[in-house]
Amino acid sequence: MDPIAYNVPVSMVEAYRGRKLIVRARDSSELVKALTEIDPEDLLYVKLLSLDADVDALANWGFGAPVEVALYRPAADFPKLYRHAKLLDKHPVRVSMPVSTGFRKAVKVAAALNFGIKLELSQPAPEVMDEVFDVLDFSLHHPSVSQPVEFFQGLLMAFYDQRAITLWAIQEEDPTLVHYVTDEGIEIVSPRFAGTPGALASSLNEFQNALMAERGECCCCEFWEQCGGYFKWPRREFTCDGVKAIFGVLREAAQDLRRDIAAYSESTPETLREIGVVSGVPPGRRRISRLV
Ligand code: SF4
Repeated sequence: MDPIAYNVPVSMVEAYRGRKLIVRARDSSELVKALTEIDPEDLLYVKLLSLDADVDALANWGFGAPVEVALYRPAADFPKLYRHAKLLDKHPVRVSMPVSTGFRKAVKVAAALNFGIKLELSQPAPEVMDEVFDVLDFSLHHPSVSQPVEFFQGLLMAFYDQRAITLWAIQEEDPTLVHYVTDEGIEIVSPRFAGTPGALASSLNEFQNALMAERGECCCCEFWEQCGGYFKWPRREFTCDGVKAIFGVLREAAQDLRRDIAAYSESTPETLREIGVVSGVPPGRRRISRLV
């Protein structure tokens, strides 16, 4: 079995039949129609690209597939999340959004609605960093957060488990795990790499080897194991002081978590929820599971 998952536009479902799929479309009825022929075991999740499309077809779909809703303009469009709350009756739902000015409000609304959250943070501008740290604190400590806030959750668990997982994998941009298929049928690493010739062929390995060879900021970074140079794309001159502070907060939270767990006689998921650090999952709901 091909170990790669493919993030495909709904028009290419047929061409990728039999593979592990993430299927995206602007319209929920288009998604439902195309997916009736897919083995549910092959479907990782569906992604709804428009907040303005009718959601009823997906809301009423009998098969409880994980759904990701794309919120491209979080500051302006977060009120549209309310009409998507009905999806939760049948599906686990995650909202993806770029880290842009005003995204904090969208995170708080999405969390209040019990949506999971995926933050897309490429090379954050200095003016959003205050919001990033506010959201990080909110996701780690606020009792209303009952679903994962990625990529924070993935990194927290990477530090906690001391596993070699990088942001590339957590953010579904590791080409050994997932390929993004453009609307034109070209396989690339992720939308961040759109328009970059040969981005997939040259692979993550080559990019990371080049970062090490140039002996810049990455080669002596204490977070290389969890980051792998993620923030050096697309501009290698990007300065990582702010993002290193995010890693630092999460590493410290993982250490606190480990200490708290050690104070309990049994390290069960119930224990994690009891101490209020790791989010719980409502019974009977599937999350959009990470690829790692
Ligand atoms: S945080 Fe920056 S310097 Fe450190 S590994 Fe990531 S991209 Fe490189």
